[in-house]
Amino acid sequence: MNVIKILPNCINGQWSVSTATENLEIINPASAEVIAKVPLSTAFEVNQAIEAAADAFITWRRTPPTERVQYLFKLKNLLEEHFDDLARTITQECGKTLAESKGEMRRAIENVEVACGIPIMMQGTNSEDIARGIDEMMIRQPLGVCAVICPFNFPGMIPFWFLPYAIACGNTYIVKPSEKVPLTMQKIFQLLEKIGLPKGVVNLVNGAKEAVDAILDHPKIRAISFVGSTPIARYIYSRGAANGKRMQCQGGAKNPIIVLPDADMEMTTRIAADSAFGCAGQRCLAASIAVTVGEARHSFTDAIAQVATNRIVGNGLDQGVEMGPVISTESQTRIEGLIQKGKDEGARLLVDGRKPQISGYENGYFIRPTILQDVNPAGEIAKTEIFGPVLSLMHVNTIDEAIALVNSGQYGNMACLFTTSGAAARKFRYEAEAGNIGINIGVAAPMAFFPFSGWKESFFGDLHGQGNHAVEFFTQTKVVVERWRDEWARQF
Ligand code: NAD
Repeated sequence: MNVIKILPNCINGQWSVSTATENLEIINPASAEVIAKVPLSTAFEVNQAIEAAADAFITWRRTPPTERVQYLFKLKNLLEEHFDDLARTITQECGKTLAESKGEMRRAIENVEVACGIPIMMQGTNSEDIARGIDEMMIRQPLGVCAVICPFNFPGMIPFWFLPYAIACGNTYIVKPSEKVPLTMQKIFQLLEKIGLPKGVVNLVNGAKEAVDAILDHPKIRAISFVGSTPIARYIYSRGAANGKRMQCQGGAKNPIIVLPDADMEMTTRIAADSAFGCAGQRCLAASIAVTVGEARHSFTDAIAQVATNRIVGNGLDQGVEMGPVISTESQTRIEGLIQKGKDEGARLLVDGRKPQISGYENGYFIRPTILQDVNPAGEIAKTEIFGPVLSLMHVNTIDEAIALVNSGQYGNMACLFTTSGAAARKFRYEAEAGNIGINIGVAAPMAFFPFSGWKESFFGDLHGQGNHAVEFFTQTKVVVERWRDEWARQF
């Protein structure tokens, strides 16, 4: 008989079994098999982790940045060595294909690489002689104990938008993974253990609302990064900010793509399908609305319907599979309900992916790619984040109407345009109200050295994850003005 393991926390360098009375089952969404259990850790355990991190901060902040990044070089090498195993774990707990999991880990590693540049990235500035014999400088210092609260859809990558920068800047850290996908972080913490970081510099606490609220309320937490749905992002931002913490909270999305008649239709269709159906649509940069302009309508509609119908759906670990399951049975039911709602609101169900039979995985949480045509822009389905493999088609006559449609949305995570016209592309880049823009790109995910720039209801805060924004977020500036009188130097 298979014994199902309850995952430990890692606090102050020690793996410890939680005292939580409640555990959740971790389920492989392709097979519906229970693969582990995760404890819903208590506020007491979160507080233990925060105290350990606060103690570790005293010496960690005095460790020179050049020494701190040596740990990251070691981590990068270990992540490369364990790359395949980490990718398999992501697929097992999250459902996406192995190729998608590898892409996710690649971006995680890129963030470690960028953070290795901290000795130069966190440099300050200096002005000599702001007045006679007076110099002024700005230095960057770490904040203290910081934390990240993660969503389910990128268990390997999302913590790395923050963690490498946080510790390289001299902070100590708490990671609270999604309670739906805690296995990948278990493995990553085993690697963090191997690089020999001083105890308490990084800590792992599993759990859900009680653990999160304890992080939000603890006076020793200085800054919190959150990624998840918009209602929770708003809640986390408000409560953390009210407690005086520095906050960056990334929320949900409803990303539109526009297809102009002059677009390369073969390429556009392929890229749009990858965006809408990749990761089973469970990506904050997934295309969920495609707006065709003028004559693009017929060619795009026919082609995307074909690609959606032909997509190979199955267990992400199996060779040749192009799309895996959604995360849970609740999610599957919710998405199927939203597809029906779209139909009830007057859309035509061009491709219906509900209730597929996937041979060998009859219990898995599968939905095949689905396309709703002529979706009413004023209806609920045009506004709700579905977070599944569902693409809504809309049609307008001009690029101005299309941009107005894009800008009418409540979210602003990403907007994309498909065209061969430079003038149209520039107009779109200039006018579209979203923080990540794609031109002939379907998933405009910023590289690790650019900020992940969500706007509107997709982001609460000022500084985003990754790159220079992360360095700004994880440091506080201090300005020093110094007077050195000339006569004191004359004696030398
Ligand atoms: P979620 O909001 O349900 O959960 C995210 C985290 O919040 C989890 O760690 C969870 O434990 C915690 N949480 C949930 N409810 C809470 C509550 N009431 N009080 C305190 N903590 C709570 O999100 P999810 O379903 O895991 O992830 C999917 C969402 O994340 C989608 O909306 C997606 O668009 C979004 N997302 C956004 C980005 C981005 O960059 N903007 C990236 C990835 C995912």
